[in-house]
Amino acid sequence: MTFPLVIRGAMVLEDAATPFSETAKDIVVDAGRIVSIAPTGGPLPDGARIVDGANRLATPGLVNAHTHSQSSAMAGFADAVSHPAFMWLTQAHTAGRPAEEIRIATLLTALHMIRSGSTAAIDHFPGQRFTAGDIDAVAAAWIESGVRAVLGLRFFDGAFSDIMPSGAAIPDRLRAAVESNTLLRPQPLAELKELIPEAVARWDGREDRLRIFPAPSNPMRCTDEALLYCAEIAEARDLGIHTHLLETAKQTHGAQAQYGCTMVAHLDALGILSDRWSCAHSVWVDEADIARLAARGAIVVHNPESNSRLGSGIAPVPQMLKAGVTVALGTDGAGANDNMDMHSAMRAAAVLHRPMQPSPAEWITATDAMTMATTAGAAALRRPGLGRLAPGADADIVLHRLDSPWWAQINDPVAQLVLAETGASVDGVLVAGNVLMENGKVLAFDEAAVLAEARAMARTLRTRNADLFSLANIIAEGVN
Ligand SMILES: [Zn+2]
Repeated sequence: MTFPLVIRGAMVLEDAATPFSETAKDIVVDAGRIVSIAPTGGPLPDGARIVDGANRLATPGLVNAHTHSQSSAMAGFADAVSHPAFMWLTQAHTAGRPAEEIRIATLLTALHMIRSGSTAAIDHFPGQRFTAGDIDAVAAAWIESGVRAVLGLRFFDGAFSDIMPSGAAIPDRLRAAVESNTLLRPQPLAELKELIPEAVARWDGREDRLRIFPAPSNPMRCTDEALLYCAEIAEARDLGIHTHLLETAKQTHGAQAQYGCTMVAHLDALGILSDRWSCAHSVWVDEADIARLAARGAIVVHNPESNSRLGSGIAPVPQMLKAGVTVALGTDGAGANDNMDMHSAMRAAAVLHRPMQPSPAEWITATDAMTMATTAGAAALRRPGLGRLAPGADADIVLHRLDSPWWAQINDPVAQLVLAETGASVDGVLVAGNVLMENGKVLAFDEAAVLAEARAMARTLRTRNADLFSLANIIAEGVN
């Protein structure tokens, strides 16, 4: 049995395109969905829980279409290092986790999201081969968090060759320690064929806010057989497929060597590229790849801050939008993008390309950036009811305090949300009609306890993964 809830007297920004008015409205919510949005003052449903919307702006919750819960405690770590060094630092921070660390890292991700106005994410998890216990720990934590998530089961049944150190003088002892680390050994496809369907059966659709997608770590780290399996199970169970795609120049050269064509051309030649795919980064794609992605309806997930932070490159997003590619937006994990704040990601998406394009008519606008972070993200999650406020839509709603400096007056709410808001005025969050934060207080779980446990976790893993930290530091000092 559900009880209705009313957000009373808020201004409402319904989506990136609908004209805005400053009229105060009541948003009635029931059974996880928005029932009505109407000028305030009308009769309220019996027994309704009231959330105060006065002097607040209600917006759709933002959709972070690419992140990694496992690296959520890495904010600010290793400012200027190469991509391989970053990947090994991430291994050092995330390898060998017991279930409780997986839970804390996931709740910390949810906390980043709630505090900055994101209500849904694709979690590309984990960074190593995984067990059924790992899946249960992360899936249960997403349910506990109250946030909406797709758990992308990140697998590789081939070598992680694009991050292997290629010129560093690595002491024998460390090389042996790394080579004996079974977590990065390819996970046999036969094992994945048991784990993935079992995870789907156990968790997909749980509470109508958790999905399970197969999620290659990167196509070139997988056999073709595994990629074909991915497409097959996605089709059979109506799942999406999430992957990293062509983040670095090194991966582009590696794909050419491995396939004799681009990675996108190879996926297309396998006959599996479709609108089920959401492809994080897609930095190193050429014109023909963009045309292929557009023709197949595959979704790109742009990560402008991560790609800049790691020096990976700048994805040709204006060309993609022009070609009709659906482009969603992500922060990437906190190891590559620190705050996991979709407001700064939207701002970066909007302004990053402008210096290269003299004509403002060709620029990515605030409206484009908000679309990426809302309805395009909904497409990546395969959840069309997300990313807008309207009767029938999912009740994933964020309230912003209008007494914040950047909301002193409302000039253009979309431009202010994208270019001015930092997430700091977010003081109310609902997901599926449940109140996760109200008046600035997180209600979903014990915020202070999660932060304390995250600090303790950081100390434990430094000791446990000391060898991996040493290796990462050596790579950071001289290899790319
Ligand atoms: Zn990533």
